[in-house]
Amino acid sequence: MARFAGKTIVVTGSGREKGLGQAILQRFADEGANCVVSDIAITAEVEGVAEELRARGAKVATIACDVSDAAACSALVEGTVAAFGGVDIFVNNAGIGFMMKPLLDVDPADWDKVIGVNLSGAFYCTQAAARAMIAGGRGGRILNIASQAAKSGFPHLPAYVSSKHGMIGLTRASAIELGAHGITVNAVCPNHVTTALGAEQNAYFSRLLGFDSVDAYVENMKRKNPLGRPGLPGDTAGACAWLASDDAVYITGEAINVSGGEEMH
Ligand code: ADP
Repeated sequence: MARFAGKTIVVTGSGREKGLGQAILQRFADEGANCVVSDIAITAEVEGVAEELRARGAKVATIACDVSDAAACSALVEGTVAAFGGVDIFVNNAGIGFMMKPLLDVDPADWDKVIGVNLSGAFYCTQAAARAMIAGGRGGRILNIASQAAKSGFPHLPAYVSSKHGMIGLTRASAIELGAHGITVNAVCPNHVTTALGAEQNAYFSRLLGFDSVDAYVENMKRKNPLGRPGLPGDTAGACAWLASDDAVYITGEAINVSGGEEMH
């Protein structure tokens, strides 16, 4: 299937091997899209992600962007338009925030940093991408990678939880204003995904919640999940591909759980 042939996708924070951003780009590359790999800096790892996408047959550009810098977000979109003539799908995936600490111990500077990357970054990129999509006159899709933490509280992650709740607000607010331009804006909310960040989080929470080991904590998570396993990057990538496809043309302002039904407990 080449549902995205001739389309261009940008994913922020997509330069990490085995990360969510990489998995999203792999899925769109397989379906024919031109890919922009973007991360805070272009390292050998980022170039490796780009090479792997080229091997899948995609046209690929790499563009550095620190999403907490509004000018850099504009430059990312301008670079994409220069490379491929437009932007059709923009995914706000860059994220930080597993600085796990009790609420009372959180340093305001760390709070600002998490909000600056996860929420302000998504806002700056939404503005820049929407401007280019409106100028291009062919609509577009904006996807925000939120989290289960966008809908529930979790201990020792106040900045992360708040930034992800904010992303749902941004999704709804942008969807209302951008609909008139044929742009849909949706969020996906993955549960624990098996990436490096996910592993770090598992180690912390297994200790915090008094499990004997990380394995015991992961086993408990699996048991509580109706589909019996943690999330995989490909699960989120599949949801993104559907939301960016013509089948989802009438869906906007939504925040869809990609979590094996975990919230039902
Ligand atoms: P996960 O491990 O949860 O799947 P990713 O692999 O998608 O997450 O990682 C998040 C990405 O966000 C990483 O590639 C990281 O380098 C990137 N990132 C972190 N801070 C910034 C920033 N300020 N600007 C752009 N990208 C960032």
